[in-house]
Amino acid sequence: MERDEGRGRVAVVTGGASGIGLATAGVLAARGWRVVISDLDADACAAAAGPIKAEPVAFDVVDEAATQAALDAIEARLGPVEALMANAGLIQPGGRPEERPLAEFDRIIAVNLRGVYVSCLAAGTRMARRGAGGIVITGSVTASRTAPLHAYAPSKAAVVHMAACLAAEWGRSGVRVNAVSPGYVATPPLRAAMERGQRDPRLLTEAAALGRMVEPEEVGRGVAFLLSDDAAAITGINLPVDAGWLAGAHLST
Ligand code: NAD
Repeated sequence: MERDEGRGRVAVVTGGASGIGLATAGVLAARGWRVVISDLDADACAAAAGPIKAEPVAFDVVDEAATQAALDAIEARLGPVEALMANAGLIQPGGRPEERPLAEFDRIIAVNLRGVYVSCLAAGTRMARRGAGGIVITGSVTASRTAPLHAYAPSKAAVVHMAACLAAEWGRSGVRVNAVSPGYVATPPLRAAMERGQRDPRLLTEAAALGRMVEPEEVGRGVAFLLSDDAAAITGINLPVDAGWLAGAHLST
């Protein structure tokens, strides 16, 4: 084991069957957390959980009743949930606002904003009642820079702010809430968007100060830090893990 930050405590990762969530689940498992991989599809959860000895629990974060029931089942089987990565999210394909259906906007807001709130509410209420816990919400660098993503970027700005709001609400109850904001990570949906020509891979790399994209495990290590005792005095912040994209965005212009 790399280090035993988790000490066998239960950490739930939503959207954990793919991309950044899957990589973070691996980092947390390697650091001694008892990880629950949650995602929409039960088979995908099981396939992702197997190699890292995590527990698969499928639920839709938009569905409040299903999320509460899943948290009940997890706690009955494994014990108190002490960490949550509220990570499930949809990436927007791109396109001008007037060309995209309103239903796309509604779905992105439902998953990226409401779904994050529902999972934070379910886990955070339990943590606050017990007086201990840590939550990390997956934001994005697009939370603080304009991007041609008229639904996605505002949804991310909202959840970054939500992290600070929930940190203020639950701080006295021993619950820390932070956001992590990845730069560009070549996960399946972003790779697909690049292949369709909807993202220019050069801009995703050249705009970053380090001149490259971010590895999913690098985001996972940021999350592990925020959940660890090393971050005991850190709450309500947004930690970019972006290869310097925010610092260097002017490099591409
Ligand atoms: P991904 O598609 O690989 O992973 C997202 C997972 O969330 C998928 O497995 C999907 O099934 C799941 N999911 C979607 N809707 C769900 C729901 N309603 N309930 C439960 N699970 C659901 O994508 P990713 O790139 O790893 O994205 C993970 C998070 O990181 C997202 O919030 C995304 O917005 C954010 N992010 C990604 C990037 C990037 O460059 N890839 C950059 C910044 C932020």
